[in-house]
Parts: sequence; structure tokens; C-alpha cells
Amino acid sequence: MIYDASLDELLQKVWTGGRIDAAEAKRLYTLPLEELGALADRRRQLAKTPDFDGRGNEIVTYIVDRNINYTNVCNVYCKFCAFYRTEKEADAYVITLPELDKKIEETLACGGTQMLIQGGHHPKLTKQWYLDLLSHVKNKFPGFNIHGFSPSEFIHFREVFNEPLETLIQDFVKAGLGSIPGGGGEILVDRVRQRIAPLKAMSDDWLEVMDVAHRLGLASSATMMFGHVETVEDRIEHLERLRAQQDKSKGFTAFIAWTFQAEHTKLRAPTVGAHEYLRMQALSRIYLDNFKNVQSSWVTQGLEIGQVALKYGANDLGSIMLEENVVSQAGATFRMTVPDMHRLIQDLGLEPRQRNNWYQLVN
Ligand code: SF4
Repeated sequence: MIYDASLDELLQKVWTGGRIDAAEAKRLYTLPLEELGALADRRRQLAKTPDFDGRGNEIVTYIVDRNINYTNVCNVYCKFCAFYRTEKEADAYVITLPELDKKIEETLACGGTQMLIQGGHHPKLTKQWYLDLLSHVKNKFPGFNIHGFSPSEFIHFREVFNEPLETLIQDFVKAGLGSIPGGGGEILVDRVRQRIAPLKAMSDDWLEVMDVAHRLGLASSATMMFGHVETVEDRIEHLERLRAQQDKSKGFTAFIAWTFQAEHTKLRAPTVGAHEYLRMQALSRIYLDNFKNVQSSWVTQGLEIGQVALKYGANDLGSIMLEENVVSQAGATFRMTVPDMHRLIQDLGLEPRQRNNWYQLVN
């Protein structure tokens, strides 16, 4: 093999924690998978070791929470979505407060600390409906975090309620909102969004919501759904936009990438396998040098690959998912219990610890 000094230099840079650019990312993407994985694992160690009194490198975290979808009524019709319904369909629903209470009580009984609440872009729910839901939960279940409403929902609220994002987010926080999930990020490249979800918030909108939320002191996560119409260059552009936003507003707690699930959706694409998933996750860990936490996506990849992903840059197994309705309708049906999570983590010689939304250890 011919010695390549520039590649050697790039590998050194990654090993020692340096920042890479898009061209370097593209080059890394072609490395043998194990080599890329080792670099991502090194970057996980560099990022995490200082945490938890210097034990961050030995600990893998997870959260016990529940995904609650308050409505499946949506007029955005994303081509990759199997979850939405029109108002007239027989199985269209809007959650009631007693239904919500029951789900929260079940979550608390399992040691859960929060709900992730998101829904379709319902054309008729009022702002007061959302505020009442939030204050009801906040008053009835103090201490239980409401991680809710993705940026595309806030863009929808801005349109239908005709109010600035700052006002909306402040009012939601006053009523009980605790943090914002990164749903709807998909690929933050508008030519991709135009093809898969032309009626949904575009890239600048998504980032604007995060910018405002971070400025108001809210933490949020960042996501990527890949393996549909996008190219590798688009994925890298997505990472670049997230990294630039994090440099600016510093409010992302974690990055989560998952692969497109095609069943019952209008979008046709070959399924992304474990090899490409791990490659992309490893590259993301290296590129997103200002993100502390990377979650593995066992929900779309299965328990074993979810475990392997912990050696490809991830330091967190995400949620136990007491309930999940969206990707399961598109074909991903993996389930995991707390003992399963502990076993997967301990089998790697690491220590499993429950965390809250802000990556603080629970118990
Ligand atoms: S992904 Fe969300 S916004 Fe898009 S159609 Fe489904 S529910 Fe609606």
C-alpha cells in the first residue's frame, strides 16, 4: 500500500480531537468501517471522560420515558410518514386528559421521568388547548418533565396562531414545557425536504426554532433521519448545519440518527443496513465535535446493532420507549426492557445508568 501523508495527518487530527470539514468527512466516510468506528470510539472517550466525576467513559446512559402522540391528525402529508390521518378517517384521534393521565401514571410507576409529547399538525386545535394540557400535567405531576413539540410543530403554531416564536415558546414554558425534542430534523437541506416533505418546516425554520429555544434557556436534542432520497453530501451538510447552530446557541444535549423505515409510507428507498448505519453514526460523532452525547438507535436497528453502536461513537441507548407509535407504524417494532438495556451495556464491560433529559444521573 502506498503511504498517504495527507490521510495520516487527517487520522491524527481526528485522534487528537481536531475539527474536520466537509471534504475531510467525505474522505473519512470511505475508510474501512472498523477503522472509522475506532476513531469515533476515541472521540466518544474524549468527549465523555470528564463527565460523572471523570467516569463518563465507563458509563452508558438511558432514559425511562414514554412517547405520547397527542394527535395523529395532520395536514402536512410527509411522504415518509405512516402515522398521519385526516380528520375524517375512522382512526383519527386527539388525546383526552384522562388518557394522558393514565399514560403518565404508568410511566411514573416504571420509574419514568418524562414524556416525549409530539403530534401531527392538527389544523383546528387552539393555543389554549396546548396550554391547558401543559398546565394540567405540570400541576398534577410536578417534577415530571414535558419534553415536547418539535420545531415543525412550533412553525405550524406560528402560522395558525399568528404569534412570534419567542412569545409561543415563552407561553409554553410558562405553562409547563421543559425541553424540546429534535423531531422533524430529517435532513436539513431544502432540496431534500422539498422532495420528502414539501409542506413541512424548511431547514432555516427548524434551526430558527432551536435558536430561539436555546436563547430562552431550553435544552433540545438534534436528529437526523437518513436513508431515503439524500446523498452522503447532504448528510454531511446536515451535520454542518447542526454543528454551526451548536457553536452559536449551545443548547443541544444530544444527537440521534435513525434510518428511514419505509413500510406503509409513500417513499420508496432501499433499506439502510447496519453497515451504513454504523458508518454514518461514527462519522456524526467525529463531525459533531461540540455535542457531548450521541444516542444509538436500537429502535430502528435492533438490540444487537444498538449495542454495537456503543462502540461506534454512541454513549447512550436513548429511551426505554414504554410507548412508540410513529416508526412502529412504518415497520420498526423492536422492544427493550430495563434489564435488556443493562445486559447490553454490561456485556460491553460498561456501567448502565438511568439519566434524565439533561443527562444527569438518576438515583
Ligand atoms: S411526520 Fe409529522 S408532520 Fe409529517 S405527516 Fe407525519 S405527523 Fe405530519
